[in-house]
Amino acid sequence: MNEFEVIRQYFSFSSASVSDADLGVGDDCALLSLAPGEQLAVTTDTLVSGVHFPGDGDPYLIARRALRVNLSDIAAMGATPLGFQLAISLPEIDSDWLEEFSRGLARDAAEFHCPLVGGDTTRGSLSITITLLGQVPHGKALLRSGASPGDLIYVTGTLGDSRAGLACLQGDGSRDFLLDRYWLPEPRLKAGTALRGYASAALDISDGLVQDLGHIARASGLDALIAVERLPLSRDILAFAGSETARQWALAGGDDYELCFTVPVEQAGDMEKTMAGLGVPVTWIGEMTAFSGTPVTCIDVRGNAVLMGDGGYDHFRS
Ligand code: ADP
Ligand code: MG
Repeated sequence: MNEFEVIRQYFSFSSASVSDADLGVGDDCALLSLAPGEQLAVTTDTLVSGVHFPGDGDPYLIARRALRVNLSDIAAMGATPLGFQLAISLPEIDSDWLEEFSRGLARDAAEFHCPLVGGDTTRGSLSITITLLGQVPHGKALLRSGASPGDLIYVTGTLGDSRAGLACLQGDGSRDFLLDRYWLPEPRLKAGTALRGYASAALDISDGLVQDLGHIARASGLDALIAVERLPLSRDILAFAGSETARQWALAGGDDYELCFTVPVEQAGDMEKTMAGLGVPVTWIGEMTAFSGTPVTCIDVRGNAVLMGDGGYDHFRS
């Protein structure tokens, strides 16, 4: 099988779902139409085998995860997906692997109405780069820079599950829910577009809450305060890891792909109702404060700071 046969057999599954006016796989470029008044939202993420996912992982899940982590960025901007490109480098043409990879990718492309419109196929160690194209009404994207002092900080869903799922993968036990949270993060697309009416700043949590909320704090010229006891933890993570480790993973575990966003106090009630209507759980976890030079401070139930050391967490109680 050569490169072009691979593309035809495994990466042309979206041809039928690209609209007549547009152009998918097969020419020098894809062509996509933006609705009037919309801005293009573009994001790329690379997943390297052995770094971002286990190389011996199920290709069906690897594909779905790769697409979902990119969709999560589109959700975090309040945008909706238009299509995606796949640049894949493969050590060899393994048709069983490609068949499963393609099946997973096609499934989530259909589920999220996001056709595969092009890409690149090369030989090399296994790595998957997806470029997601989306649209958002002009000037309405959710940025990291819009928070004001006093804005409330919220997150969707529960945190830390994916980190616990990784521990399961590494042989520390097995819990289906946690493994699913690792392999199949839920891009919060409905929540993201609904938040265009409420959020002053937003992002998706890929590197851990503390680090990512730090980006909102820095971009907005503020600090953030998190009440650690408010962190939303699943029953599964508590049963698997206990509350102390669960909290650490919720703060710094990474790969959550939940949204973290800020909302002016007077909008919070309406936002909560809207999210409840969409069936998206949201939890208030803290608030934005004036700039003092520490982007994110976590406090425990007694109001004492919970500090983070370089090699993980130290718990300092004064
Ligand atoms: P070019 O040499 O003009 O860059 P290629 O030969 O690399 O074109 O690709 C041929 C067509 O197949 C293009 O439309 C490209 O977007 C598409 N394509 C290549 N690899 C992939 C892939 N992994 N997934 C989807 N489309 C792909
Ligand atoms: Mg090419």
